[in-house]
Amino acid sequence: MKFNDSCVQEHMTMGFVTVEPNASLSEILQTLTEAKSPCLIVIDDDKPVGIITERDLVGLLAASHLEGKNFSDLLAQDIMTPSPVTVHYGSPLKEAFVISQSYNIRNLPVVDPDGYLMGIIGQNDVLDAHFNMLDELRTLSMEDSLLGIGNRRAMEMDLQYTHNNALRYQRYYSVVLIDVDNFKKYNDHYGHQEGDRVLRLVSDTIQSSLRSSDRLYRYGGEELLVLLPETYPLVAAKVVERVLEALEAKAEPHCESDYGVLTASAGLYSYEPGCGMEWKELVELADGQLYKSKQRGRNCVSWEGDKDSIAAAAV
Ligand code: GH3
Ligand code: MG
Ligand code: MG
Repeated sequence: MKFNDSCVQEHMTMGFVTVEPNASLSEILQTLTEAKSPCLIVIDDDKPVGIITERDLVGLLAASHLEGKNFSDLLAQDIMTPSPVTVHYGSPLKEAFVISQSYNIRNLPVVDPDGYLMGIIGQNDVLDAHFNMLDELRTLSMEDSLLGIGNRRAMEMDLQYTHNNALRYQRYYSVVLIDVDNFKKYNDHYGHQEGDRVLRLVSDTIQSSLRSSDRLYRYGGEELLVLLPETYPLVAAKVVERVLEALEAKAEPHCESDYGVLTASAGLYSYEPGCGMEWKELVELADGQLYKSKQRGRNCVSWEGDKDSIAAAAV
């Protein structure tokens, strides 16, 4: 069996442990100890509403020990991480791998199309299943070797996953394309190796100005894509403005640019619940907005609600 063909259902663990949201702390501890499980799924009506990991309990223990706090009245719903990231049982194993990597989560609850808990899949399940398939794993590589961020394959998988979640839970998400300004001139003037170096600088600067829930991918060439789950356009625009300012503030010399320093332009488009669009359309529309930013003189972000677009629509 090939890694590409495997689906989550074939590798998930059915022996998961659950508690109700109103379970007491002692009940939680007892269940975890007896089951020797690294986490507990909190279910309501057989649907996962939260997850409690050993890490959460160690945190409580530390606070109790060091700060003298008493947590004996806490219930599962007070301790759990709510709305856990889940994966569909029919999804490819690769998707579980990407999601657990990008969210840095060790165990993912597996659900059926109606959201009912079916099992749990851990990073170890994925690795165990394919221990001997190194070639397959190599081609599965999700990272761009120059920038050390997710490549296009990882990006597409994350977009599809985020899109499915937005559909299922009626959530917003925003997609941003960021393109380095006058990069051809930069290469021509400073050389390709310097070009590579500043591309890494751009990627690192963007990464460190993003919130931990936002994800950065190399879309291709000197274009990067930022995926902002559960983010309204106005909030996303603020995040992107901050990112572009951070890059300009690095003051990396670019003598062929009107700004004198390396800058980038961005285009933003958001998924709104019920809009009926697919993620590919959003990326195209974000690209249209990026084009507008280039026309506006670069080093800026454009989006449907920005004042230039509103002014253009009013004419
Ligand atoms: P604009 O401001 O309109 O985006 O102009 P631009 O010059 O940035 O855009 P254009 O598409 O004309 O050129 C993009 C350049 O980016 C050309 C290509 O050689 C360079 N490039 C793409 N990927 C890499 C890379 O990995 N390393 C380096 N050094 N250059 C790259
Ligand atoms: Mg480009
Ligand atoms: Mg460019």
